[in-house]
Amino acid sequence: MFAGGAYIFIALCFGLAGGLIGRMKGSSFFIWFLVSAVIPFIGLACAILYRNEHDEPMRLCPGCGTPRKVYEAKCLTCGYELEYPSEDEIFLPQHTARA
Ligand SMILES: [Zn+2]
Repeated sequence: MFAGGAYIFIALCFGLAGGLIGRMKGSSFFIWFLVSAVIPFIGLACAILYRNEHDEPMRLCPGCGTPRKVYEAKCLTCGYELEYPSEDEIFLPQHTARA
């Protein structure tokens, strides 16, 4: 009888926790709130384990133009063999979701 209410309560708690953790890591509170609330345990674990990949240096794949991390040896999108990029090709993605 109270299972539904308990679930909503737990989902809200997890959502808040996940959202706050996501926010601390520079991501969106609402995205992680939703993820953690919809799939409580997995979502919260994801929020905790989530690394802010936007801080990692990127380069564009010469084959398809997709941003790839500089240490990737092969493009996962088009299969292009990536050599280590020259300095001009490396860039740091800007944070666009900062409030
Ligand atoms: Zn590619």
